[in-house]
Amino acid sequence: MLDTDVRALQQAGGEAMKPTTACKGCGAPITWVKTGDGKWMPCDTDAHRVVTLEGVILDARTPHWVTCPKREDFRRAKAVQHG
Ligand SMILES: [Zn+2]
Repeated sequence: MLDTDVRALQQAGGEAMKPTTACKGCGAPITWVKTGDGKWMPCDTDAHRVVTLEGVILDARTPHWVTCPKREDFRRAKAVQHG
């Protein structure tokens, strides 16, 4: 299982990525991308092309908490909401 992850990591080239893991909430495969400030962000594995507000074209990934069907669980785990 790990061999496949390492191969995927190598194919990603210079991109700063951890091997793909499974989301603890929904079980979907997630890719870890290192952000500019050195933090690891769980993202969906599908990359897509976006255009920034300045008109710069980038390949990007969606943070997994945007699409995760269990994202409410994560939110509840972080902060208990009233009302
Ligand atoms: Zn998930």
